[in-house]
Amino acid sequence: VPELPEVETVRLGLNQVTLHQTLEGGQVLLDRTIAHPLDVGAFLAGIQGCQIAQWHRRGKYLYAELVAPQDAGTSRRASRSNSRIPAPRGYLGAHLRMTGQLLWMHQSDPLQKHTRVRLFFPAGRELRFNDQRTFGQLWWVPAELGLEQVMTGLQKLGPEPFSAEFCDRYLIDAFKGRQRPIKNALLDQSLVAGVGNIYADEALFLSQIRPETLCAKLKPSQIKTLRQQVISVLQASIAARGTSFSDYRDISGTNGNYGAIAWVYGRDGQPCRVCGTEIIRVKLAGRSAHFCPQCQPSA
Ligand SMILES: [Zn+2]
Repeated sequence: VPELPEVETVRLGLNQVTLHQTLEGGQVLLDRTIAHPLDVGAFLAGIQGCQIAQWHRRGKYLYAELVAPQDAGTSRRASRSNSRIPAPRGYLGAHLRMTGQLLWMHQSDPLQKHTRVRLFFPAGRELRFNDQRTFGQLWWVPAELGLEQVMTGLQKLGPEPFSAEFCDRYLIDAFKGRQRPIKNALLDQSLVAGVGNIYADEALFLSQIRPETLCAKLKPSQIKTLRQQVISVLQASIAARGTSFSDYRDISGTNGNYGAIAWVYGRDGQPCRVCGTEIIRVKLAGRSAHFCPQCQPSA
């Protein structure tokens, strides 16, 4: 499942190839991929003729600000005298969920078995949404409706890990008296947005904390270390363009590289890169957790 670094890698790619380009139209091959509006014709009519102003990420959600081409032109002229940003006409939202892929292709490329939505750009280019498991979603959000009112999952997200809000004090308060395993807390998107199974395991290894340790038992010094390691492991993975797992691809169709340098994730049965002890995998809240029993002593 794509986590923050994978989604951020896709966002960076989208900003490289689609900025200031006009959405000329599209084709929906699987209606339920369109989460809003329910009428796919209204989805296509909403985005058609809009220009991509900027792609943003919030947690694992992606959204592009869409502006009318004349607004974009006005703003480029206006930006020389003042830095007015044009009001967006609306937003194109996307969530990859388990197996979604946004791929920058040519319209002449043959359709794949799991192609769900095609978005057409000038010069025969196409942003193609492929999704084997079909949990992925796209949204058209007219500006007057408001992003969080339509993409309601955004309302439930905790702070971004790279934001000032995600500070030591915030985490120490959040963990106070909480009798749940730290691994489960890290996976909770309302605590911190975008961290999933891979990077929770990695950050806990680097913090020398066993995944089942109860939040309430963590010392403030451990919480401070954990916060720093969550941030650094996400940064390391973004630098490696995400983790290579079965369905994740960046927009050019390439796998990430973080898997090759992971400390514990997916390495059960292999020696710890620090001490040589065998990495263990256990089930925790229905998910697999990987840790080194030597480097991560039980609390
Ligand atoms: Zn070890």
